[in-house]
Amino acid sequence: MAAGYWRRFVLICFFEFAAREKKMKQEYRNQALKILPWICAKCCREFSGKKLHELTVHHKDHDYKNNPADGSNWELLCIYCHDNEHSRSLEAQWQTSHDPDNVKKPVATHNPFGDLKKLLSVPDRTDENDEAE
Ligand SMILES: [Zn+2]
Ligand SMILES: [Zn+2]
Repeated sequence: MAAGYWRRFVLICFFEFAAREKKMKQEYRNQALKILPWICAKCCREFSGKKLHELTVHHKDHDYKNNPADGSNWELLCIYCHDNEHSRSLEAQWQTSHDPDNVKKPVATHNPFGDLKKLLSVPDRTDENDEAE
């Protein structure tokens, strides 16, 4: 009984949140399309008519809740460039917030921490010069 109530409550919250989110997205998209030219800011393709839905609003600071009416935080990007933009920033984020607990997948080609590890595992031998050649 109680569990059912909570489940319904959570579901309602979720749908309300999703609906509000959707409405907000529609609003800033409409506003962005009103004030910005219908051109992808990255690849410069023009969009109109049916194709217009491929043009999406990107938030320059990556905060989708930051929607100043003058459009200073918006950039219109086609879905491809938008994807690209986000996968690039995700990568950057992963690299900066990368700590030992999160290392699951090894970095195949370039590991900026590899050298550091090597340095840390080698004991400090500065005063054992007699062993050096
Ligand atoms: Zn594009
Ligand atoms: Zn974006």
